[in-house]
Amino acid sequence: MGMNTDLLHSAQKHAVVEGSYKPSAMTHVSPIYQTSTYILKDFDSAVHLNQNVDEGYVYTRFGGPNADELEKRMAVLEKGEAGLAVASGMGAISIAVMSSLKAGDHAVIGDVIYGCSYTLFAQVLNNYGIEITRVDTTDPQNIKDAIKENTKVVYVETPANPTLKITDIRDVADIVEEHEGMTLIVDSTFASPYLQNPLTLGAHLVVHSATKFLAGHGSVTAGVIVGDKKRIDRCRMPYLQTLGSVIDPFGAWQVTQGMKTLGIRMERTCQNAMKVAEYLEKHPKITNVYYPGLESHPTHEIAKKQMHGGFGGLMSFDLDGGMDSVRTVMNNMKVFSLATSLGNVDSLIQHSPSMSHFDMSPEEREASSIYDGQIRISVGIEDVEDLIEDLEQSLALI
Ligand SMILES: *Cc1c(COP(=O)(O)O)cnc(C)c1O
Repeated sequence: MGMNTDLLHSAQKHAVVEGSYKPSAMTHVSPIYQTSTYILKDFDSAVHLNQNVDEGYVYTRFGGPNADELEKRMAVLEKGEAGLAVASGMGAISIAVMSSLKAGDHAVIGDVIYGCSYTLFAQVLNNYGIEITRVDTTDPQNIKDAIKENTKVVYVETPANPTLKITDIRDVADIVEEHEGMTLIVDSTFASPYLQNPLTLGAHLVVHSATKFLAGHGSVTAGVIVGDKKRIDRCRMPYLQTLGSVIDPFGAWQVTQGMKTLGIRMERTCQNAMKVAEYLEKHPKITNVYYPGLESHPTHEIAKKQMHGGFGGLMSFDLDGGMDSVRTVMNNMKVFSLATSLGNVDSLIQHSPSMSHFDMSPEEREASSIYDGQIRISVGIEDVEDLIEDLEQSLALI
């Protein structure tokens, strides 16, 4: 089926309504199975379920029907064998990374990744004997040079937050493939499965903050991992089992509801973002626009090859006048809301150096082109004329 059909129908759980006036009536939408545990049939089936001899629902921390629907739909969309739904994007990233590393191992990570993902490596995993090397992954040769005997993970985010640079997943996968037991993990949050499918390009695990484009409405935090069954089983048991970042049934339900419109939201978002990027690129008070859809973007050609149907809704831009200009613009937006999230139906604006990427040192930020005068916007599905007018009036105040 096409992706828009899969978004609506794959893994949907129509439930029979007991006692309904029509014996055959089923819910149109999947019910929310708001329960912490499951009543099991008898002693032997309970033992088999608890010992994983039989598959089924036992306890919500290990899985449930709403999480299952999200996992199966994401596996279809990302063209993977299995999925795991968790409580947040960071829940997905920490499980994917930790299940692929042990003390004494080394990871090669992108120099531009979501701030908290960097914090996971630099302030948590370092305490457990895991070393990292940060490299610019847009040149795969840098990854090749950084790989050591104990390298077990290559971690890439593409498009990367907040400078939107694109890494060629296929080229990186070819390098990783030469080393036995090495896992390539790709954070594809900015693309969503609608614009990019890292597993088809050779990644082993793809992670998403489902809080963003997948849920799409800013009402829930959630995360998903997709990959081969063996790796996903390990992510669930013992990692989700013990780390406990479980998604609640209502949260999973909200994501599966939101996902139904991912296709049309993404198409509108990409159209709007392209127009906003073209407008910003011509603005005299803006020195640089980072949007992979622009021909001026250094990795535009890779984006064109790797992404399908658009370049997403995220972009950053550098303002003349640094922090003072940033303050003026951010305090005077009327349609865009000041909020550190992205991928929602409505447009958001934030300042990466002081917000999402504050955990990096000023030197690290500077080296990764995250400048003090840089603003990141997430373009929503409003009328694009209103978004451009909003930027125009606030930029005029600088
Ligand atoms: C937001 C985000 C995350 C973290 O997701 P949460 O749902 O907030 O935990 C990870 N990676 C990227 C690229 C993100 O934008």
